[in-house]
Amino acid sequence: MFWDQAMGNERYQDQLHPSHNTRYSDSSFYDEVCIYCGETDRVPGGWGNLKYPCAKEPEERRVARLLEASQSFKDSIESK
Ligand SMILES: [Zn+2]
Repeated sequence: MFWDQAMGNERYQDQLHPSHNTRYSDSSFYDEVCIYCGETDRVPGGWGNLKYPCAKEPEERRVARLLEASQSFKDSIESK
């Protein structure tokens, strides 16, 4: 539904989602392209689909990334 989609989009800020692995491109239409899913940012116009989670991120990279995120979260709590 329309409003579902609008609400879902608000969960993602206009910044690069860490699940993508981007490289620089000299295309005039975008600066960064994900080597997994091929999504690109927009020039001009922000991060485009790169602000959403990557659909093609390898499973082992995703697990490692989430483990690392939860570990640094734990560290930040325990150091207080
Ligand atoms: Zn991607």
